[in-house]
Amino acid sequence: MRLILLGPPGAGKGTQAQRLVERHGLVQLSTGDMLRAAVAAGTSVGRTAKDLMDRGELVPDDLVVAIVSGRIDQPDAKKGFILDGFPRTVPQAEALDRMLADKGLKLDAVFELKVDEDILTSRVEKRVAEMRGRGESLRSDDNPEALQKRLAAYRAQTKPLVAYYAQKGALNTVDGMLPIPHVAAAIDSVLSSLPQASGSGAARAESSS
Ligand code: AMP
Repeated sequence: MRLILLGPPGAGKGTQAQRLVERHGLVQLSTGDMLRAAVAAGTSVGRTAKDLMDRGELVPDDLVVAIVSGRIDQPDAKKGFILDGFPRTVPQAEALDRMLADKGLKLDAVFELKVDEDILTSRVEKRVAEMRGRGESLRSDDNPEALQKRLAAYRAQTKPLVAYYAQKGALNTVDGMLPIPHVAAAIDSVLSSLPQASGSGAARAESSS
């Protein structure tokens, strides 16, 4: 299966992706994780991305698209993957369509985790405060200013993807405010109704162009 998880920061994409990894044997392709690894390794990609990420802004589309394309070619992604944090702009989604078509692959489903942004903000702030209290290391963009920027970037640049995938008939909206197991059950219920839930992929998100 090849899936996309859409949703603002703190909506639970990572949590649900992890669960899908355990339950369905897919790999989680998180562009945020890949970029943080590039920053930590001090690569040229990492040097370009670091300040933008710290400010809560998006890194350039071409850079992220190249990372994802390379990652999808890795052997472990052959069994299926969950895109977490990608695509984040309409040009990225269009590039993904072209990339998958070139590789002879198709998406099975896109999930939007829909959340109340005010509740989300307090949820993220609480998580950050708890982590700080436990002395755990925080991400450099886990602060109120960067969080507001990340939410604004979501609204302006990523939210249009909801209409983009709805128009393709690929969108499944899940209430992300429900408890984690309920969100997981809603996702599983959609997955079990897919024509080829465990196979090489259906055509639900096939490009209409
Ligand atoms: P995340 O871990 O998904 O919250 O991403 C952390 C940061 O990485 C974002 O605020 C962006 O700066 C950058 N980033 C992650 N994924 C993308 C993407 N698909 N396009 C552009 N920037 C991204």
